[in-house]
Amino acid sequence: MNAYRPRSHQLYQAAWEKIPGGVSSPVRAFRSVKGTPIYFRRAQGSHVWDEDGKEYVDFCMSWGPLILGHAHPAVVEAVQKTAQNGLSFGACCAQEIELAELILAGFPSMEQVRFLSSGTEAVMTALRLARAATGRNKIVKFSGGYHGHSDSLLVKAGSGLATLGVSSSKGVPHCLAAETLVLPFDDQELLENTFSRWGDQIAAVIVEPLPANEGLLEQHPAWLRAVRQCTRQHGALLILDEVISGFRLRYGGYGDSLEGVDADLVTLGKIIGGGMPVAALVGSRKLMSHLAPLGEVYQAGTLSGNPVALAAGIATLRILAQNEIYTRLENLGTHLDLSLNQIRLPCLRWRRAGSIFWFYLALTTDEELPRRAENIQKKAISRFHRLHAPMLNRGWYLPPSGYEVLFLSAAHTPREIEGLIRDLGQELPLDQENE
Ligand SMILES: *Cc1c(COP(=O)(O)O)cnc(C)c1O
Repeated sequence: MNAYRPRSHQLYQAAWEKIPGGVSSPVRAFRSVKGTPIYFRRAQGSHVWDEDGKEYVDFCMSWGPLILGHAHPAVVEAVQKTAQNGLSFGACCAQEIELAELILAGFPSMEQVRFLSSGTEAVMTALRLARAATGRNKIVKFSGGYHGHSDSLLVKAGSGLATLGVSSSKGVPHCLAAETLVLPFDDQELLENTFSRWGDQIAAVIVEPLPANEGLLEQHPAWLRAVRQCTRQHGALLILDEVISGFRLRYGGYGDSLEGVDADLVTLGKIIGGGMPVAALVGSRKLMSHLAPLGEVYQAGTLSGNPVALAAGIATLRILAQNEIYTRLENLGTHLDLSLNQIRLPCLRWRRAGSIFWFYLALTTDEELPRRAENIQKKAISRFHRLHAPMLNRGWYLPPSGYEVLFLSAAHTPREIEGLIRDLGQELPLDQENE
């Protein structure tokens, strides 16, 4: 079936027998680009090699953690050295304090960190803590925001605006989904109306300050400030989910770069583990003291704070703390904008925030780049598959869905960016004609 990648295809067939859908996480199945998964064997810097020995420049970068590139020598060395002394103690280790200090250096208004192993867990704990601290049950989220796969957040908007949510996955009880209110981004009036009606029942609003999981739906700071004001006024907590944006554009949180968007709780993941499973919940001492063993909010993890994963995070944050990486990434991003400006295709739209980048194949020349998930045209997204396979064959590994953003890392080069855009320019007009 796949003449380009026979070995990947063979492995996929074998996986299919033993693993549901052949994958450990659904988007990896390449369904939305009408392809089959690639099996990778090795990666270094901005490059990955598949099981057939084919080389690609990677713009997916493990979905965000690898801001320094694949297998950065300092990170690999830290992992190897630490691993020699044991992989997990299920007990305390000094690395916990060091990584907590490195994280808190980026969040000056926060006081404490609890480590977990995935963003999903961090978010799940944040909600439980918020519900406990406020004595309320309802949560507000925005459609197009992704917060992992815990039950309370596998929820989409019901029919009508600002109704109680309905589950977006089978197996989530209706009564739980109904505790989550789902609003569109960028609608202050609806937000305020929702708080007028439900304000005394809302425990927390959870929001990605830089939404980057269903396109890059960068929001106006004024809207985020309104979210902060509503929550404060009604005694609800503001949880900034910075699993993707934390340490991505600057050393610390994206929310802290905006005035008046100070969080009560912040969730982190991805970059803080440097490619290993580390996530964190960050907050004030007062709020965090609700967590067991001090308080009555239970949270735990066999492998939480294990020394090997933390070592990868420490090595990554130490390098990021020098701040040069952010200048380099911004320069690469500017280079990307300039290259894109040169190809000038009427239906190509893009949005970039630092080293996060999304492009959108608009259906008409006057269609604007959406800022709300509701305005993303499904048809525009499905056109992406026509681009994905030819770009793969040219050696560019793009995320396997038009909803997903691309990531630049410190290991990418201006030449790679030029090459990507040049080939995009070559493939794109074809795509428009075929439409
Ligand atoms: C990736 C992500 C998560 C989920 O993290 P996992 O480690 O995949 O569980 C949650 N929130 C945001 C904003 C994310 O980008």
